[in-house]
Amino acid sequence: MIPFNKPFIGGEEIKYIEKAIAHGNLSGDGYFTEQCSRFLQSFINCPSVLLTPSCTHALELAALLIDVQPGDEVVMSAFTFVSSANAFVLRGAKIVFVDIRPDTMNIDEMLIESAITAKTKAIVVMHYGGVACEMDEIMAIATKYNLIVIEDSAHCIDTYYKEKHLGSIGHLGALSFHSTKNIHCGEGGALLINDRQFIDRAEIIREKGTNRKSFLRNMIPKYSWVDIGSSYLQSELNSAFLYAQLNKLEFVSKRRRSIWNQYLNSFLDKELNEHFEIPKIPMNCFHNGHIFYLKCQDHEERQDLINSLITKGIYTAFHYVPLHSSKFGKVHGRFSGQDNYTSVESNRLLRLPIYPDLSQDEVQKIIDVLISEYKSILNI
Ligand SMILES: *Cc1c(COP(=O)(O)O)cnc(C)c1O
Repeated sequence: MIPFNKPFIGGEEIKYIEKAIAHGNLSGDGYFTEQCSRFLQSFINCPSVLLTPSCTHALELAALLIDVQPGDEVVMSAFTFVSSANAFVLRGAKIVFVDIRPDTMNIDEMLIESAITAKTKAIVVMHYGGVACEMDEIMAIATKYNLIVIEDSAHCIDTYYKEKHLGSIGHLGALSFHSTKNIHCGEGGALLINDRQFIDRAEIIREKGTNRKSFLRNMIPKYSWVDIGSSYLQSELNSAFLYAQLNKLEFVSKRRRSIWNQYLNSFLDKELNEHFEIPKIPMNCFHNGHIFYLKCQDHEERQDLINSLITKGIYTAFHYVPLHSSKFGKVHGRFSGQDNYTSVESNRLLRLPIYPDLSQDEVQKIIDVLISEYKSILNI
């Protein structure tokens, strides 16, 4: 049996959790939270990294921080996780969906400008599988219309666009350390603050709207309620687990990229590659092997393949159901322009197992079985 995903375990997580217990402070912003933030700040080259309980919380914090008001519009693609939209819908925003590019499944940067209105407040970009959106064009549009860019970088630890780590290019970015991601702590996340004007207020909102952080730094004699806020601190136990994982980041990225390349090379010159499509990585993008997908001819062929692979003990998965086609997406969003690719492409995308625990032989087995099952479906 080959599961679709196995959360990575580096081996030192328990040791670090014991250390956290020994340190005594298990709430937010303790020793390991500090270590993780510092690591990420320097690794990503970002002025401020605030660990949060999840990427969803980091996006919610971002929405509070940029003061989204009821009626404001936020532009994004519909091929993304529900949290990219929900964080803004919670503040009363309307979501304006634009179509994706079929090559990367990312937002089509050429369509963003026509989705902008007087009410537009922000553009949310999600880099699918750690392959970057066209950030130069997107940042230029944001500057022209005075909009905030938030990078949903949930997939993006150790990924780059023109040498810049993803999440460090927009005004704000959000990472996920959910157990389905490359590096994780069960549930966890981080807000990346690239525009320094947001740093002080982010610390306040994250501390229940109080200036407790300045108090802890001995900058003020007592702390009080100064703004809206919530509790967006990551538990120290999770940070200890995460720090153990961050120390293995290089290994994880290397293993995943190697499996990703094994898939790609095996499918490149197979007779079947006129039947399915393999991913294309644009120049200037360096990914982390978070996702490997094929595109079948259509939804039906994909379902047949998923089902026949299960009978062989191999678990594959489709991905996001486009948000604009959902019940809630229809109420809180609208599609700008034509849905030429979002629905069609997401309906035929099939993700294959990819995680450090997979051996080269197992990957070969997946490739062999997939090809033979595909042939039997196609009757060739
Ligand atoms: C996983 C994911 C999230 C949510 O991450 P959590 O840490 O589980 O909140 C958000 N956006 C995208 C694109 C994701 O894949």
